[in-house]
Amino acid sequence: MTADRRYQILFESVKIGPVTAPNRFYQVPHCTGMGFRMPQSLAAMRETKAEGGWGVVCTEYCSIHPSSDDSPLPYASLWGEDDVRAQALMVEKVHRHGALAGVELWHGGGTSPNLYTREPGIGARSRPASGIEPVQCRAMDKRDIRELRRWHVQAARRAQRAGFDIVYVYAAHGYLLAQFLSPQNQRSDEYGGSLENRARLLRELLEETKEAIGDRCGIALRLSSSVGGADGEPEIGEKRELIGLLGDLPDLWDLSVHDYSYEMGSSRFTREAAMESYVSYVKQLTRRPVVGVGRFTSPDTMLRQVQSGILDLVGAARPSIADPFLPRKIREGRVEDIRECIGCNVCYAADYQGIPIRCTQNPAMGEEWRRGWHPEFIPEARSEKSVLVIGGGPAGLEAARALGQRGYAVTLAEKSRELGGRVGREAALPGLAEWSRVRDWRVTQIEKLEAVEVFLESELDAEQVLEFGADRVVLATGADWRPDGVGRWHAGPIDGWDTASVLTPDDIMSGALPEGSFLVFDDDHYYMGGVVAEKLAGTGREVTLVTTSYLASAWTINTAERDRIQARLLGLGVRIEPNTALTQLAGEKAVLRCVFTGRESSVDVPNVVMVTSRAPRDRLYRELGARIDIERIGDCLAPGTIAACVMSGHRYAREMDAGPAEGALFRRESPIP
Ligand code: ADP
Ligand code: SF4
Repeated sequence: MTADRRYQILFESVKIGPVTAPNRFYQVPHCTGMGFRMPQSLAAMRETKAEGGWGVVCTEYCSIHPSSDDSPLPYASLWGEDDVRAQALMVEKVHRHGALAGVELWHGGGTSPNLYTREPGIGARSRPASGIEPVQCRAMDKRDIRELRRWHVQAARRAQRAGFDIVYVYAAHGYLLAQFLSPQNQRSDEYGGSLENRARLLRELLEETKEAIGDRCGIALRLSSSVGGADGEPEIGEKRELIGLLGDLPDLWDLSVHDYSYEMGSSRFTREAAMESYVSYVKQLTRRPVVGVGRFTSPDTMLRQVQSGILDLVGAARPSIADPFLPRKIREGRVEDIRECIGCNVCYAADYQGIPIRCTQNPAMGEEWRRGWHPEFIPEARSEKSVLVIGGGPAGLEAARALGQRGYAVTLAEKSRELGGRVGREAALPGLAEWSRVRDWRVTQIEKLEAVEVFLESELDAEQVLEFGADRVVLATGADWRPDGVGRWHAGPIDGWDTASVLTPDDIMSGALPEGSFLVFDDDHYYMGGVVAEKLAGTGREVTLVTTSYLASAWTINTAERDRIQARLLGLGVRIEPNTALTQLAGEKAVLRCVFTGRESSVDVPNVVMVTSRAPRDRLYRELGARIDIERIGDCLAPGTIAACVMSGHRYAREMDAGPAEGALFRRESPIP
């Protein structure tokens, strides 16, 4: 029984072919950056989801054959018996908590470059691989199609041997089956041309997978329910006919949409439940259960989706990453304890970079096995030491919260009138409002902790810190954006920076807005340069974004935001000057240099915003370092992402009173037994 009876419906079981999900909380397949290389890390991470109440927990994309190799992007695999054993690790841990385990069988087709396996690629047609890899696949002939069908059945049988309850046929996200389904597939055989022909391979795989393992496993189909359209205005096109054609053939419909950067859109561009208009028609075409996503963190939104007959199962990747215990918190009536996803896509970025998953909100994500961290539990204090935390940004808040959870006596001193530090300020920038959840969740938790006392408007100097007399002091005082242009490109201050009207992102966030046009010099490449340009352009100012990179906010290719950021800036009339450095300022004259040729040009612009690097606010450390037990965390130690600040604060709390073996070293997965 749920604490709040309204939510009882979310805890009803759902039949998926021959298996039954214990509730409606469904962790859809999501990447982790771990893949086949880190089975133990994966198993432990997925286990926390099952423990936290997700009724179904799925793998990431799982290759059925070496001809489907996305390296260097990490993916799971079911190529042979070693893989069966590796996958069984996860299945066993998921089952331990009464959840079902699902596997997303995957063949990338023509998009897979096969850089690791060196297998020639195959696809519906001969085409270059994704991105800019100089690799092209061959068009599959009849023998290739027969082989593919055989591999799929073999992988499905392996999946069953590993113990999976749900096995996917994956026909979305541009991979092999989506390539066959695409209207671009104009093959002249019975697998191309008409919709029926283009869907033939998909139908065959569904039928054959069912025949092979369908008596024991539910067969899920992952498919996009739209063919195009603008954000929030889907064009359904032939998808209605296709879904009608397949109707009750799969045991479960797992729906995605045609634009991945919308489906997994960051909160800057996509709101909760944004997929509703894309998927709401599907239930009319099938009697089978339907799962869909929408970065659902509000139980009321989930309830509405189910009650209004849009979804049967509430699909989630990011909400389950930010809070693996989300379902349990709803069941226990602890909705305010849900650590809501902020939609920053830092989790996705890790996969895109080929490194293990991490999460801004949940510092334990990806650390379950290698550091033994749990998202909800933390060892009790090992001493009676008191701790003074100075600075209430993401690092200080997380340190204070986690130390308090352990039972240490914590005093948190914050200079300003509000907690949150950079998070509060950055959340006021265009599109970033949800980032304030980093602060809000921590403040809510700290309010419940008797061991933590908070003092606002309390800027401490060295004497006051000494006088306070805490056993340990942790400095979380953050960092300032530098006005002098020092960063990647310039090791020293830009010539003449102090002769011009130069501002920093801190000034812009504090409300500074001088008259006239702006040049934003971005040598940082994450969101700040782009978002400052967006804010300024939104006030009607003329803005030029000068960047040493090839695009505005280039790093955001990792967060699936890059193209949307270009579109938004260009739409607002921002001029983007790529591959260019700002090298000199003299009053209103700015000198620019091409990063390749060194060719110089100059522009007249009254205001410049430097987005180059930050200087830690570590004065107290320099004054007190030799005298007391004091450490720095977050941006004060090394300026970075909000995720890095939260991690830093959390790690400080975990390592308080830890033995020497519990420090920087973590367990590594080793192929040597
Ligand atoms: P981080 O990202 O590392 O958490 P932030 O810049 O977000 O750092 O937060 C640092 C916080 O520390 C800010 O809220 C700032 O007002 C506060 N702060 C800075 N110096 C002091 C000080 N001497 N005493 C108390 N608080 C301080
Ligand atoms: Fe959400 Fe960001 Fe965590 Fe991903 S990293 S789950 S987007 S809060």
